[in-house]
Amino acid sequence: MVHALTLNAGSSSLKFGLFELGDGRGDPTPRILGEIDRIGSQPHMRATREDGSVLSDAPLPAEDAADHAGALARALDLIARERPHAQLRAVGHRVVHGGPEHAAPARLTPEVLADLATLEPLAPLHQPHNLAGVRAALAAFPDAVQVACFDTAFHRHHPWVNDTFALPRAYYDKGVRRYGFHGLSYDYISGRLAEIAPHLHSGRVIVAHLGNGASMCGMIGGRSIASTMGFSALDGLPMGTRSGQLDPGVVLYLMEQEGMSVAEISDLLYRKSGLLGLSGLSNDMRRLEEADTDAAREAIAYFVFRIRRELGALAAALGGLDALVFCGGIGENSVLIRHKVCEGMGWIGLELDDARNARGETLVSTDLSRVRVLVIPTDEEIVIARAARDMLGRVG
Ligand code: AMP
Repeated sequence: MVHALTLNAGSSSLKFGLFELGDGRGDPTPRILGEIDRIGSQPHMRATREDGSVLSDAPLPAEDAADHAGALARALDLIARERPHAQLRAVGHRVVHGGPEHAAPARLTPEVLADLATLEPLAPLHQPHNLAGVRAALAAFPDAVQVACFDTAFHRHHPWVNDTFALPRAYYDKGVRRYGFHGLSYDYISGRLAEIAPHLHSGRVIVAHLGNGASMCGMIGGRSIASTMGFSALDGLPMGTRSGQLDPGVVLYLMEQEGMSVAEISDLLYRKSGLLGLSGLSNDMRRLEEADTDAAREAIAYFVFRIRRELGALAAALGGLDALVFCGGIGENSVLIRHKVCEGMGWIGLELDDARNARGETLVSTDLSRVRVLVIPTDEEIVIARAARDMLGRVG
């Protein structure tokens, strides 16, 4: 039976999925979903079957997953044990940056890989790890069709005013642009909305992807018009450990007055800020909701304030609003955050139904609310698996 492998390599983690492709026409069926985290230090593998039953939830010997290639080999061992007859014909990779050109998944050839490596300076914390996963998979499956799925691709049709900064033009030409990220998640939500509420899909929709990374996307007719993330995955909303929007003057101040190096500022903005920096406690929303401290409450208040502010800005960019969709770990699970984001939003025609919200239903707005509010669990893995299936269908 023909299968596709999906890989999503982070700085010290590797998410993997095994999908059965059937006749290549229907939706890929997930068979195994797993993740190895803390690669290079204390690796741990967790994997489940499609019915949720646990296949593995155990530490790995450190030397077995010292790098991404080692982690991939462990994932493949598990897959071979569980599904010995799976024919792996395609591998789909999440790649954070596709640069200005890639508006769709791309077949990974040595030339494309070399081209993607030139984008590493644009996403130094993600792109090198993504490409390490690609190289490991190319070595392990030289005969499989390999495809890169870009977080930036969904946003590539932005109007120019949403794609540029007001810097001298030469910087735009060098690639200093608002790329936008979380594109695989937005692509999934757009497709799901088309299935469950086509009248909303064709309208003006804001999707709030609220997880450890967080951003919002304004869409018309299922296509991205604007995103809160810009040149890097630092912009826009505050996140677990990332600052979100910041006056660039702050960076100048940190360099000039505090004497901080580029590495120190990067560490501050990517790893020590956001919910963690504000609360002084945790980057984890569940812990902040449970914590009884003023700093935790203020961290939540700032997170909510920025979401509401961006909601107004995106609604203006869209020329109005028909639906708001919550997704991501916080968006899908936090009754409190959804409540706080929607509180007092009657001015825009949005009214949350608190009982529906507490029950976590798909539709959480009242019947009278002109703006529909939905909770849709996102699924980036299936977007990668579909791209692998489609590429295999074209070239395999
Ligand atoms: P993600 O990066 O999409 O996996 O989302 C991770 C975030 O979702 C973390 O901040 C979690 O604390 C948060 N999260 C998951 N479940 C809940 C919940 N029931 N209530 C509040 N936050 C949650």
